[in-house]
Amino acid sequence: MKDSYPVAIVGGGMAGASLALALAKRGIACVVFEAFALSEQSQPSFDDRTVALSKASLNILANLGIAEEIARVSEAIKTIHVSEQGHIGFARLAAEECDVEQLGAVIENWQLGKVLHQAFSKQAEYIDYVAPAKVLELSQSHDGAELTVEIDGQAETVETQLVVLADGARSPLRQKLHIDSEQRDFETAAVVCNLSTQLPHRNQAFERFTADGPLALLPLSRQRMALVWSKPQHQAEHYVSMPENEFAKELEHAFGARLGRITKVGKRQSFPLVQSKAETLVRGRCVLVGNAAQSLHPIAGQGFNLGLRDISVLSELLSGAEDYGDFHVLNQYQSLRQSDREQTLWVTESLARLFSNDWAPLSLTRNLLLKAMDIVPSAKSIFAQQAMGFGFKNSELAANDE
Ligand SMILES: Cc1cc2nc3c(=O)[nH]c(=O)nc-3n(C[C@H](O)[C@H](O)[C@H](O)COP(=O)(O)OP(=O)(O)OC[C@H]3O[C@@H](n4cnc5c(N)ncnc54)[C@H](O)[C@@H]3O)c2cc1C
Repeated sequence: MKDSYPVAIVGGGMAGASLALALAKRGIACVVFEAFALSEQSQPSFDDRTVALSKASLNILANLGIAEEIARVSEAIKTIHVSEQGHIGFARLAAEECDVEQLGAVIENWQLGKVLHQAFSKQAEYIDYVAPAKVLELSQSHDGAELTVEIDGQAETVETQLVVLADGARSPLRQKLHIDSEQRDFETAAVVCNLSTQLPHRNQAFERFTADGPLALLPLSRQRMALVWSKPQHQAEHYVSMPENEFAKELEHAFGARLGRITKVGKRQSFPLVQSKAETLVRGRCVLVGNAAQSLHPIAGQGFNLGLRDISVLSELLSGAEDYGDFHVLNQYQSLRQSDREQTLWVTESLARLFSNDWAPLSLTRNLLLKAMDIVPSAKSIFAQQAMGFGFKNSELAANDE
């Protein structure tokens, strides 16, 4: 590790690691401090969960030079099917209707971690990845910033022009900078696991709204499906610990028979669902990306996709800068990210509230909406743009895959 770097990234999870690669691609050197080694079971970002990547995110990752590696370990989404339990209305979107080969892809978080880390080794000239290394303190002046990092039980200091906080939704350093974060507790938890079904998934992703909350079944490699099932907080533990056959039966009841019987259920886990939005993305020479900036309900699978868009805009702005912590550059980042953040948070929160309520008039509205989305061309086109991650002004990296 050196004494000083142009950019220091706190947190080497999905957002921090992707940013390091994006900067390296533009010839900007950085250090990444990550509290957990990739191989540790407790690594909180690259765990057993899965992430649905939009077409725009696949473009961003392709521009980072990892398209083939991602394609090898992910599964394409070719159709999205949205429905509601107990109603006949549904919306369906197919890749061919949008003139694309796939609408997105699904990848296990730990596989994404492996791909990003393998790519680091080809960028050793630009990326110093230090883990386990926990950033404890941060101070800044007009000319630069300093981090105090705990490495092997020793406190070390590093100087930098720009500190990027990619340290997750709780972001202790965001709190140290006195940046407030607006929190919405949905009082629900996501029960997640991978599973196998009697019938092949044929690259279909399903979003189904049930009386208790929405569930998503996403196509995974080796003919598995990844489940994200929102449940009221007080029921989540019960769903994690109930016997496998009982869980499979409950899920078959909620999901229906589109994939036949559930034949195998993998390890189940639950995650409390809280939405947060930092009041600002910039303080002095510090910027926020990924979950440190905002975290979302996973109903629309948008959290990391939004974080990747933070990263692509930030890396584009930094590529022309003389001082990476320059006030004007960082303020431009803040203003360029505003509408995408607000729109995505609003859509996600509205979906979470609209589709987690069993009140009859709302149920009727939902059903009409689903039908409209399927048959009204303009509604379908908006649905397609949102699903593929193109429903906002895009960065250069997201627009094309080369
Ligand atoms: C159930 C569920 C399903 C989801 N599905 C999707 C989906 O389908 N599509 C999608 O786009 N998004 C999805 N998401 C959201 C996605 O998982 C997050 O947006 C993403 O993990 C955020 O990554 P991050 O790197 O910003 O934060 P994190 O993953 O929280 O990583 C933060 C990293 O910072 C490190 N760190 C923290 N503090 C320090 C410190 N002081 N020093 C050094 N390191 C530190 C941590 O160890 C960690 O590795 C889902 C989320 C959940 C809960």
